[in-house]
Amino acid sequence: MMIVVMKRGAKTSEIGAVVKSIEGLGLKPHPSRGPEQTIIGIIGGENKEEIIKLKFLAGVEQVVPVTNNYKLVGKDFRPDRTIVKVNGISVGGDEFIVMAGPCAVESRDQILSTAHTVREAGGQVLRGGAFKPRTSPYSFQGLGEEGLKLLTEAKKETGLPIITEVTSPELVDMVTRYADILQVGARNMQNYALLEAVGKVRKPVLLKRGLMSTIEELLLAAEYILSNGNSQVMLCERGIRSFDKATRNTLDISAVPVIKQRSHLPVIVDPSHGTGHRAYVPATARAAVAAGADGIIVEVHPSPENAMSDGPQSLSFPEFAEMMNGLRPVAVAVGRTMSAPVEKGESTHS
Ligand code: PEP
Ligand code: MN
Repeated sequence: MMIVVMKRGAKTSEIGAVVKSIEGLGLKPHPSRGPEQTIIGIIGGENKEEIIKLKFLAGVEQVVPVTNNYKLVGKDFRPDRTIVKVNGISVGGDEFIVMAGPCAVESRDQILSTAHTVREAGGQVLRGGAFKPRTSPYSFQGLGEEGLKLLTEAKKETGLPIITEVTSPELVDMVTRYADILQVGARNMQNYALLEAVGKVRKPVLLKRGLMSTIEELLLAAEYILSNGNSQVMLCERGIRSFDKATRNTLDISAVPVIKQRSHLPVIVDPSHGTGHRAYVPATARAAVAAGADGIIVEVHPSPENAMSDGPQSLSFPEFAEMMNGLRPVAVAVGRTMSAPVEKGESTHS
């Protein structure tokens, strides 16, 4: 695995000549044109000597080996950050994105009232599980397609795009028809058939870190999606299992700068699953913004004490609005923008 780094300001004709030479060696070039510098990845190729000779071509700065295995996810190939576009929203740009909603879609009233609250408090994406991967087979498993229909109704009413989990390759087609973002849950991070399936669709994917997975494994799991053709991927830190029982999981906030250093993909933090207690959600959400995350995904419920799943970590409506107000000054302090609360009934489409 090698990359050709072009000089700053290399001419298009020089880049073209390098691409042709790579093809001439029977290899596949992967050019990535940044605003300042172009990098050309080379996939395949046993004959290293021939590849190294590319350094003598005009406009080439250097030819170097890529040492990690997440070639498409890593920064070597693609130094510019990826901006994931969802219905006019950009994830990975200057704006800090808030995705919020219930753990599971439970009823029309529940999802519609939550959607309005999320929108009015300045959230950009509505979350809600229709297919729930529950630890116990006796727990509520979600409303299935009916849940997807209710999410679509909430989207129509509020204009908020929807993110929802897809739990198996067989469900990818159905969920893709309704969802704006496909969520691959922590328990499925290494479900390779599912990763390949979501790699073949043209909808953004939020990939959550597994409960016991390293950052390297998360990046490699994302590589499955990108190598199948879908580059619209966001990585989500949602807490990992540790010895400490004071929180449900241990939110690894250091994963944010580590992933940012290694990958061009946007990073989202889930302070709800990350802590398991609503009392700790606002502080860890602020930590996420400060650490450089591109957004958060948070659980909100009209009546957390009656929620069918993850009630203890779900914010009530007033708590959600308060958390949003607490995030804004932190976002501004680290050079991010965050959308303001919207008046009731006011259109989100400007
Ligand atoms: C969820 O988002 O409700 C969920 C099940 O998350 P995770 O996959 O991170 O446990
Ligand atoms: Mn949940």
